[in-house]
This record gives sequence, structure tokens and C-alpha cells, in this order.
Amino acid sequence: MDQERLKNFSQEVYQCTLCGHCEVVCPVNIHSKEIRIALRENMVKGDLQPALQGPILENLQQGRNVTYPTNHDRLLWLQNMPKIFRHCTHKTHAEVVYFVGCVASFFPATYSIPQAMLILLEKAKVDYGILGPEEWCCGWPLIGMGMEEKVDEFAKHNIEAVKAMGATTLICGCPSCYHVWKNLYPRFSSEKEFPFEIIHSADYFLELLKEERIPLHALEATVTYHDPCDLGRASGIYEPPREIIRMVSGINFVEMRHHKQHATCCGGGGDLEMFFPKITKDIVNLKVKEIEETRAEVVLSACQQCKRTIALNAKKMKKKFRVLDLLEFILILADPMRALTFENLLQKTSSSEQG
Ligand code: SF4
Ligand code: SF4
Ligand code: SF4
Repeated sequence: MDQERLKNFSQEVYQCTLCGHCEVVCPVNIHSKEIRIALRENMVKGDLQPALQGPILENLQQGRNVTYPTNHDRLLWLQNMPKIFRHCTHKTHAEVVYFVGCVASFFPATYSIPQAMLILLEKAKVDYGILGPEEWCCGWPLIGMGMEEKVDEFAKHNIEAVKAMGATTLICGCPSCYHVWKNLYPRFSSEKEFPFEIIHSADYFLELLKEERIPLHALEATVTYHDPCDLGRASGIYEPPREIIRMVSGINFVEMRHHKQHATCCGGGGDLEMFFPKITKDIVNLKVKEIEETRAEVVLSACQQCKRTIALNAKKMKKKFRVLDLLEFILILADPMRALTFENLLQKTSSSEQG
């Protein structure tokens, strides 16, 4: 293939969200997601990758996160929380470490997810800590760009930081961080097994709810659930979020037309937005239409990037449904007054739509 054709081809290689759906429908089980990543690695070697929309690589190299050239602001989301929550930043030892992830740390639209996590962990009396500026990006954006060789130092740093806390459990609220920690980090470590269990927040909170360490009050509402690709197809976690939703009395749970293995991506994955933000917008528009078909008042997900992508675009499209992460949903229902206020809010919205 000549250079010109290769350059054109490279656009398509990066126009994929790495959602993995083609692997589900492929009759011969071709690992097309891995093939795409390998193709991207080759594009990078030949300097044929499309231009990034912003200084993402520089931020990762200097600031160890995707958004800023320093890592000091990783705790901005904690600033307007009551002081009692600050203790987790000074801890040198904790049974549970919460890996917040870059999206929830740096995008105000998702600050409410780590905030909900901390309040719920306090409520359940968990001994938890966070890494603060010692948390570096998990490296998934680099893998997605085709630059896996740069991930080594990120992986080693994060593994050592969690080990230094003496944690027995690592909770990830982001499915991509979870997938990277669980399935890809062992490649970068000489240890076969880490001395801590890696768990996604949906699994972790399902157990806490079953143990009745957090109450769940009733809610009369129609709810749907968006399967994040890295939680569902990449990690096989489909049921725990649904189990949590079904634990709430009064909920009318409606599946979207495409769900579980066949769920459509929200458009926010695979670094697509960093290269082709317009395509992300087109994909999320399709997702919003599918959500509307369910007539749900609330769409839940279990991914900070899904929440950010769907919520921001639904708002621009003036859609009335609420977009919440599962943790925010649990937090609302953990308090009877908050649950009631939320139900009233939903009812007001639906009667204003009808009127
Ligand atoms: S966007 Fe999803 S379905 Fe399309 S090629 Fe990429 S991984 Fe496959
Ligand atoms: S996967 Fe996304 S949210 Fe998680 S650390 Fe990496 S960039 Fe941040
Ligand atoms: S943002 Fe969510 S739906 Fe989109 S690719 Fe990532 S996990 Fe999948």
C-alpha cells in the first residue's frame, strides 16, 4: 500500500470506539478489537496516525493524566465536600483503595461520581483511602492510541502505589481502568498475582447492599441501563448493575433495544473523541434515541465516561431524562428524603412534558 492510501486507511483505524461489538457478532470469533489496537501500533511506528485534538500526549507525559500538564489538581472534586472526607487523602494504609480515574478526577460533569463513592464508603464504614496525586492515568488512552510501550511506567507506578497502602481490595469506578488493571497490568508486572483483589464498583456495592450495609429506599420510576463496553463485553459484568436496580422496589426496569452483549457504545470510547469528536457526537445521538425509545425517566450506567458523554449530549439535545451513574443512584436511594425528593422531581418533569 502506498503512503497516501496508508494515511487514508489510518483514519478508519482510529474511527473505531474499540467497543468490541464486531467480536460478538463475528461468526469466526476474530479478535477485531485487538487487531485494531495492533494496527494502531503499526500506524504509530510509521507515523501515520491522525492528529490528536489537544495536548493529550504531553499531559500524560508531564502530568500523568489526560487533561492537565500537572497532577496536582486530581482532588479538585473533593474540595467542596465536608472536611471529614479529607482524611482519606492522608492515609498511608487502608484496606480498600479507590482508584478514581482521570475522567472522574478532572471533568466537573463527573465529580459527583467519586463524591458519591466516598459518602457511600463512609456510610458502610469501610476503611478506604485514595492515592491523590500518586494516582496516575491507568494508561488505557495510550493503549488505545497504539502506544502500549509507554504504559509500562504508568502500570508499575500505580501497582507500587496501591501496594504501598497495604490494600487488600482495589475498587475501580471506571470500567476501562478496571479492564486495564484486571486484564492488562499483569503484562507489565513480574508478579503473577497482585496482593489485592481488583473489583469494579458495581460488584463491590452489590455485596455491600446484600449485606444491608447501605439501605435502598423505594423509587417509583422507569429506569433503563446502558452497558459500558469495557464493563460488559470486555469484562463480562452484565448482571450486578441489573441486580442492584432490581433490588429497588417500585422501579419499572426497561431494557434498551440493544443491551448486554449487543449494547451499542455511547461514542466516548477507544480514544475516538480525542481524534474525531464529530463521530463521537453522531454515535451518542443514536444512543440518546435508543434511550428515548424506552421512555425511561432515568438512564443509569456504571462508567464515568459513559455518564459524561451521554449526559452532556442529552443536555445539548434538551432531553428530559436524567443520566446517572449507579453510585449516584445508590446514594440518592440510601436516604428516604432524598429518594422522595428525586421521585417528586421526576414526576414534575414528566407532568411538565405532558402538559
Ligand atoms: S466501533 Fe466497535 S463494532 Fe465498529 S469496528 Fe470498532 S470495535 Fe468493531
Ligand atoms: S481509563 Fe480513562 S478514566 Fe481510567 S484512568 Fe485511564 S483515562 Fe482515566
Ligand atoms: S465510554 Fe462507555 S460505552 Fe463508550 S466505549 Fe467507553 S465504556 Fe463503552
